[in-house]
Amino acid sequence: MSELSERYLKVKDRVHEACKKAGRDEQSVKLVAVSKFHPIEAIIEVAELGQKEFGENYIQEALEKIAVRPDLKWHAIGPIQHKKTKDIIGKFSLIESLATDSFLHELEKRTQNANCTQDVLVQVNIGREEQKSGLLPEDLISFAQKVLAVPTLNLCGLMCLPPLDENPEHTRPYFIELRELKEKLEKELEITLPHLSMGMSADFPVAIEEGATIIRVGTDIFGSRHPH
Ligand SMILES: *Cc1c(COP(=O)(O)O)cnc(C)c1O
Repeated sequence: MSELSERYLKVKDRVHEACKKAGRDEQSVKLVAVSKFHPIEAIIEVAELGQKEFGENYIQEALEKIAVRPDLKWHAIGPIQHKKTKDIIGKFSLIESLATDSFLHELEKRTQNANCTQDVLVQVNIGREEQKSGLLPEDLISFAQKVLAVPTLNLCGLMCLPPLDENPEHTRPYFIELRELKEKLEKELEITLPHLSMGMSADFPVAIEEGATIIRVGTDIFGSRHPH
């Protein structure tokens, strides 16, 4: 078996173990294989082992891959240039990085023109980092209300990318905070949000313990990345 296949199966095992430890049904955690900078051949190999959902950060790269495998489910997980919005409609099962009014308006316009609906997550800048995109927690409720007011957008939950730390115990408080933000939003707006997208290679078992329903794992599956 190739190294890639071994790494993928090992991640699947770790997801299984983390669910067992947390007393959670494995079906409640969706593994998204983050394939940015990795070639389509690697994606196909992992898809052959049963993986169905992939995450990409860069739209041009994603669209080329989606054209080859439109049968797979694709998640947009990076910031999206507004002028690319028209190209992404109908291509992604979930856009995880909605975080600005201007992108929201662009998505509203494009989905209405195309007469389709789009599932989205709102990205939260949980560590309040200047260089990262995402809503600040205090701005979340009013932004969520604007998303809910758009009939062609389906708000499915929250996503975060906490400050990098090798020790997942340092990241745990951010996961707890995102979960609590989701609960607060559900209560105040009287809605249910099925998804919490949190946890990457360094910390996905902890994210599962804290309630993640989507984990986004790149390096532990595909190996290290070489940006081109
Ligand atoms: C690249 C990326 C990931 C995957 O990170 P790894 O540490 O390689 O698992 C997850 N989420 C987002 C938003 C990313 O940009």
